[in-house]
Amino acid sequence: MSIRTKVNLAMVRRHAEEIRAKTGVDLIPVLKADAYGLGAVAVADAISDLSSGWYVFRPSEAIESRLWDMTGRSTIAAVVLPEDEPQQLLANHIRPGVWDAAGAARYAICDPVLCVDTGMQRFACPIEKINEMRSRAPIAEAFTHAVKREQAELFRQALGGSGLRMHAAGSALLDEPGAWLDAVRPGLALYHDAVRVSARLVQAHDTRGTVGYGGFSCQRVGVILLGYSNGMRVGPCVVNGRRQQVMEVGMQSSYVSLDASDVCGDEVVLLGDGLSPGEVARSWGCSAQQALLTIARMGEKVYE
Ligand SMILES: *Cc1c(COP(=O)(O)O)cnc(C)c1O
Repeated sequence: MSIRTKVNLAMVRRHAEEIRAKTGVDLIPVLKADAYGLGAVAVADAISDLSSGWYVFRPSEAIESRLWDMTGRSTIAAVVLPEDEPQQLLANHIRPGVWDAAGAARYAICDPVLCVDTGMQRFACPIEKINEMRSRAPIAEAFTHAVKREQAELFRQALGGSGLRMHAAGSALLDEPGAWLDAVRPGLALYHDAVRVSARLVQAHDTRGTVGYGGFSCQRVGVILLGYSNGMRVGPCVVNGRRQQVMEVGMQSSYVSLDASDVCGDEVVLLGDGLSPGEVARSWGCSAQQALLTIARMGEKVYE
């Protein structure tokens, strides 16, 4: 194949160790969307001893990855729907996020986790409903999806002293000690610098006049076999250690700007070699998580 995706599990492990050492609280790694494209099974296996439990979006993610059988750690599933049977969650050690009284009552046997709204207004209960929720089910743990310090503070004020285990911080709040509470719940911070994705140049040549559909100008161009059908977009890349640009994206191939010495067969690095998900994201106009997920999923993964 012309695309190579290398996942450095030792780097994920190093990030997990550093986050634990820095915060001194429990670590709940976020494994949703196949661990942002890195592979949930491989990531869970690499850091299970550092994890106090996992977080995914839907129960099916924990079931398909067999997280309980593999690691002996339970999983918080953020969103449960009517088709998710309490008995099935129980059997798989999945603790559902709950945010309304009906959900709390239905999943009372599953050690549910209360999700509290501090501004996100999605899959979360308003602070004034917390007591009603707690009257419907035995609730031992609560979290909020916070991306700002004030949101974590609101959560702490609402539930501090309640005796519940509390967590608020994803990657965005790892530098805010006030948001660490009883556990942190990072995704991106575990995975950055852990993926290198490259594609081989299948063509490389000097240009005559403008190039491609849109007619862009460039002294020398190459072509890679990744296009918008693979999630490719115009943005930065690295060829032979130098920053280049993905100039134009077709359905299954893209043009890349090249230096005079770059030749067919050379690697075009889309992530790694100093090119971070954040830098790609700025150019793509999306989040670093989205850039990482999109690029990590383009090819078959090799673990190292
Ligand atoms: C995805 C998610 C996270 C992790 O977000 P990062 O910014 O990637 O660390 C944390 N908490 C919740 C509720 C999430 O949905």
